[in-house]
Amino acid sequence: PSAFQHLMQAPEDPIIGVTTAFSKDPSPVKLNVGVGAYRCEEGKPYVPQVVREAELRLLNDLSRNKEYLPITGNPQFTGLSAKLIFGEDSPALNQKRVCTVQCLSGTGSIRVGAEFLAKHYAHKTVYIPIPTWGNHPTIFTVAGLEVKSYTYYDSNTRGLDYEGLLRDLNAAPSGVVVLLHACAHNPTGVDPTADQWKGIQKLIRGKNMLPFFDCAYQGFASGNLIKDAFSVRLFAGDGGECFVAQSYAKNMGLYGERVGALSMVCGSESVAKRVESQVKLIIRPLYSTPPIHGAAVAATVLGDRELFNEWKADLQGMADRIIHMRQLLHEALKARGTPGDWSHIIKQIGMFSFTGLTKEQVAFITDKFHIYITFDGRVSMAGLSVKTVPYLAEAIHIAVT
Ligand code: PLP
Repeated sequence: PSAFQHLMQAPEDPIIGVTTAFSKDPSPVKLNVGVGAYRCEEGKPYVPQVVREAELRLLNDLSRNKEYLPITGNPQFTGLSAKLIFGEDSPALNQKRVCTVQCLSGTGSIRVGAEFLAKHYAHKTVYIPIPTWGNHPTIFTVAGLEVKSYTYYDSNTRGLDYEGLLRDLNAAPSGVVVLLHACAHNPTGVDPTADQWKGIQKLIRGKNMLPFFDCAYQGFASGNLIKDAFSVRLFAGDGGECFVAQSYAKNMGLYGERVGALSMVCGSESVAKRVESQVKLIIRPLYSTPPIHGAAVAATVLGDRELFNEWKADLQGMADRIIHMRQLLHEALKARGTPGDWSHIIKQIGMFSFTGLTKEQVAFITDKFHIYITFDGRVSMAGLSVKTVPYLAEAIHIAVT
């Protein structure tokens, strides 16, 4: 007998479930392009050399200890993270209007921000794009916010439905929270242009909404950290308030180290101080204080000119390899004469390509070719290599013809 006898078997997370199925598949030709993790040309997990170097420095520094961090995290890390996303010359930073706390990667940063909003923000509704990263609705719902959605993607053009986005946010009540992907929108790989971002800014500010940026891919979209921070800097530079959740999972390859930060850009220095005092009350009963290692690694890389430059080169290398995979896959499909227009593969940016493959086609490809793709047709370009592109192209070709 058990007190938990009544429990039903819960469904597996749809994204993590793809990797579980992949791991169980004994096929020698199997390929995992479901998970959003960068792989090198050999298909292996990749730890940037600069991260290894930072870890060696930390290991050899015998003055380091294992004491608890403050509730808000490693101050060097949070300061450098804020500078990375907002820019060295950010007016909001200079005016000390930003409260930045170290959290457990992107997910933990969004969750702490969501908990804070549920407790302290007047409006309890968040608008998220359709589609979006599968964890977004759950994070906000469990934190106690009501989740509504706005149009984002146009499946006909496989691009942004800008008019639909403006229409839906215009129709939304003033003051609500609006979740935005800072760059490299997941799963579509479709981002607004600079002008479109300005239009979105005008609407959001005009309706006194609170923008909440999820920034999981800074440097991964274009290879350039500054370019990828455009949207966040636009909003953080206009004097208004916004939240930003940063993750170092992808751009520094620190996935399992759980390194991230939540920045709350506030109306004034005194509000930022009070916000910090209140966010500590949220974090303390959740996990008390964040872990030390990953944040120390990130701070070491961000705080040393030589390591920082090396990291920038690494990022460019990762972004370039992904862009190269896009070109190869596009060429391979064209060369086969696969029916349909596949130009979205080279137009979309970031880690993923939203291929337009149907659920049935994905199931067919997984079944016949042992290629693992999320059911929405999202393919991680970072999981491909020169060797595996032709195999995927062949599978897609057969699935759609
Ligand atoms: N936000 C988006 C859009 C993501 O794609 C991811 C990871 O896949 C995350 C946030 C959070 O990742 P993590 O919690 O590993 O930093």
